[in-house]
Amino acid sequence: MGAGMNVAELRAKIRDIKDFPTEGILFKDITTLLKDGPAFRAVVDMLAERYAKERVDVVVGIESRGFIFAGAVAHQLGAGFVPVRKLGKLPGKTIEVEYELEYGRDALAVHEDAVKPGQRVLAVDDLLATGGTMAATLRLVQQLGGKVVGVAFMIELAFLKGREKLKDYPLHSLIVYE
Ligand code: AMP
Repeated sequence: MGAGMNVAELRAKIRDIKDFPTEGILFKDITTLLKDGPAFRAVVDMLAERYAKERVDVVVGIESRGFIFAGAVAHQLGAGFVPVRKLGKLPGKTIEVEYELEYGRDALAVHEDAVKPGQRVLAVDDLLATGGTMAATLRLVQQLGGKVVGVAFMIELAFLKGREKLKDYPLHSLIVYE
């Protein structure tokens, strides 16, 4: 286990912020964990360890907090890193996907040559809430012909049942709020 920290100690480093960004949301502020070296290392180690035997070719990270973990896990696994971003941010040719938010719609993009058909993909984000963001990301990966070998989150808000939207994939989360 990375740097000798356990999941309970990691959980204690996440700060709850009430009514951010809008009223009624209990925001999980991970900056308090990230600034702690041993804690950040432990999270990355624990996520990477799980996929060490999976022969991951690329780790896909979702803008913007997903990048922090996906990049570090990719480095640890010796895999590539692929960014999935909001529209208009990627410079090359992209494919795009729209998805439902609680209020309205949003869209994500990935470079059309970011994943080669048959490549083994691990998708990483900081937090699983409703699952809409990750489900959209996996649609992009699948459109490119990638094989999803894992879907990983540091935090899962289990009461929002995002897992149900992702039930076709092997999903792992480190810190679960029931
Ligand atoms: P969802 O598509 O509903 O699973 O939302 C996932 C994305 O929204 C993640 O990338 C999170 O960074 C962010 N998010 C959703 N709910 C929260 C929350 N309560 N605290 C912090 N971030 C959240």
